[in-house]
Amino acid sequence: MTENALRRLEIIAGHLNDTEYKEWRTLSPSQTLAVCTNREKKWNGYGYKDTFFRFDDRGTASLLGNRFEHFSSKEYHELRPWLEQTLRINLKTTCPAQPTMVEIHSPEVNHDFYDTIRPQGVIISFAEQDRLLHGHGISTIEIYKLRYGNFNRLPDAVIWPESHKQVEVIVKAAQKFNVGCIPYGGGSNYVDALECPVEKEKRMIVSLDMRQMNRILSLNNENMSVTVEAGAIAKDLEMELRKLGYSLGWNAESIEFSTVGGLAALRSSGLRRSMYGDFENSIINMKFVTPIGTIQQRGTSTSSPPIYSGPDITNLLLGSEGTLGVITELTFKLHYLAPFHRYVSLYFPSFHQGLLFLREVAQKKVVNNLSGARLIDEIGLQLVQGFNPTTPTITTVFKEVLKKYYLKKFKKLEIGKMCLAAILIDGYDLSKMEVYEKRILNVGENFGGVNAGYDLGERMFFMSKGLPYLRDFLLDYYAVSDYLDTSTSWSNIEELVTRVKETIVTTCRAQSVRPRPYIAVRVDHLYETGASLTFTYGFNCRNLADPLGTLRRVDQVALVEILKSNGSVSHYTTGIGKRKKESFIESLSEPAIEIMKNVKKTLDPTNIFCNQNLL
Ligand SMILES: Cc1cc2nc3c(=O)[nH]c(=O)nc-3n(C[C@H](O)[C@H](O)[C@H](O)COP(=O)(O)OP(=O)(O)OC[C@H]3O[C@@H](n4cnc5c(N)ncnc54)[C@H](O)[C@@H]3O)c2cc1C
Repeated sequence: MTENALRRLEIIAGHLNDTEYKEWRTLSPSQTLAVCTNREKKWNGYGYKDTFFRFDDRGTASLLGNRFEHFSSKEYHELRPWLEQTLRINLKTTCPAQPTMVEIHSPEVNHDFYDTIRPQGVIISFAEQDRLLHGHGISTIEIYKLRYGNFNRLPDAVIWPESHKQVEVIVKAAQKFNVGCIPYGGGSNYVDALECPVEKEKRMIVSLDMRQMNRILSLNNENMSVTVEAGAIAKDLEMELRKLGYSLGWNAESIEFSTVGGLAALRSSGLRRSMYGDFENSIINMKFVTPIGTIQQRGTSTSSPPIYSGPDITNLLLGSEGTLGVITELTFKLHYLAPFHRYVSLYFPSFHQGLLFLREVAQKKVVNNLSGARLIDEIGLQLVQGFNPTTPTITTVFKEVLKKYYLKKFKKLEIGKMCLAAILIDGYDLSKMEVYEKRILNVGENFGGVNAGYDLGERMFFMSKGLPYLRDFLLDYYAVSDYLDTSTSWSNIEELVTRVKETIVTTCRAQSVRPRPYIAVRVDHLYETGASLTFTYGFNCRNLADPLGTLRRVDQVALVEILKSNGSVSHYTTGIGKRKKESFIESLSEPAIEIMKNVKKTLDPTNIFCNQNLL
């Protein structure tokens, strides 16, 4: 009997035996090879092929495509002047990407391994295009290499496992025949987590693309839980759940590309974590295939509340970044979907005042239904303003001048100093949401805040999705940019921000970067004790001998400064990968490093999970 037939019998038996509603539902519309999902993605840039920035004949920037409701197919009249001024881009001086990758090495093939897995029906490809696509994530350095350079080592083959059983077979065979494995989710990480090891790695390396494992395995209405295969794209799952009135809640901003397994492997979270809780807290159960066997903490079909006894093994494996094994299945708790959303935004006279406001919101729980919050500094505000999709007319220009005058004269808000905060509220009852909105505005006023309206709030939240597209576009004009995230206590935020910004400026100067780099900081996630921060920085690289080297140097020096200034090595949105590895090790105590090394030795004694992230 085939595996599929067996599965179907199991499901029918399940229907007869218990209260769980079970089905095998494939989430992604691409029923066949997951490589199909890549047809829509750029090979040498972030995101969808149909979504990109462009300057038209008049030099006006626009975002093409129709993926973002209020922002796609719109013109951004203020963007070019701002980019010319800050990053000194010149429309006539362009730096186009190479049309194809320079050279792709021939694959190393371990025939014993291949002969063992092939008869099991495992789909495997040695095609250059597949290998290239699976050899990287979307960090600036990786995109730069795709556009202008090369990768030293790519996976030798790509495998699309279709079931937990197949993953077990593959991992066993890899162990037996000494083959390296790198699990692949949606390729949306920023930390070089998917790159192959370069030195001393002569073995065949296979990339395990999990996206064929994208089925909902069971959904329990009574217990509000869902079990899903780990290769499910988070957005596909969310859309399916929404049809039933549920939501996963946290909502990572890379939801259209990330898989739930990839998110678990990087210990991720998302925009709406304040309301629905973090990703890791929503995981009830996990199946994890290691070379010494499958780890599953709580039986096969339980969706019981968390067990608070003894050490939590699941938590030890979350954030393991593909270094210990493969996540094949996850059980999540579900939330009822809040149908209404409101964005509130406020100008503040300074970053300091904005911080005081957010601290009050976080510590005094000003509203119950707060989903997300943002605060952008005065430099970041200029970029948010550049993303203005309104076409200027005499009336809008006049209104803008009047607004600036009013803000300065009556509200003491000076252009160049003021910053912007935005709050997202999700709710079930519109009238209550209006009350919450008023309450937020009232609290804001106590700190000198002025209502900036719905649209700016929405734009602030859109920025995280739009920025990677802008980053790629700017490479065409010799401008490189990147970002770093961290978290720290409320009392330390301002000092950390000042020191990191100074460090980036000094390092850029020492690396002959001219003019001064662009650096903005944004507060992302609020906690009672502190908040997370994202630094975005960029500079013109036209006259630099080694733009990539300079970017690496700035990145590493800034990371060291973040740690010295009592910031964490990372926050949710990135993970560690190879990019932050040194700083991560630096941040751990000796016994902690010892524990991690021993866990690795125990679960993966021959290092078949060879991506060299973390340690
Ligand atoms: C625009 C944008 C917004 C983002 N916003 C967020 C956000 O809001 N929150 C957030 O947390 N992150 C965010 N990220 C970062 C990124 O999406 C996450 O890090 C995500 O976890 C990557 O998931 P993936 O499926 O793409 O994994 P990949 O990039 O494919 O892999 C990441 C790592 O996980 C390992 N891995 C993947 N799948 C498995 C598996 N099944 N088993 C074991 N290991 C596995 C890989 O080996 C690799 O080391 C954002 C990224 C972008 C580009």
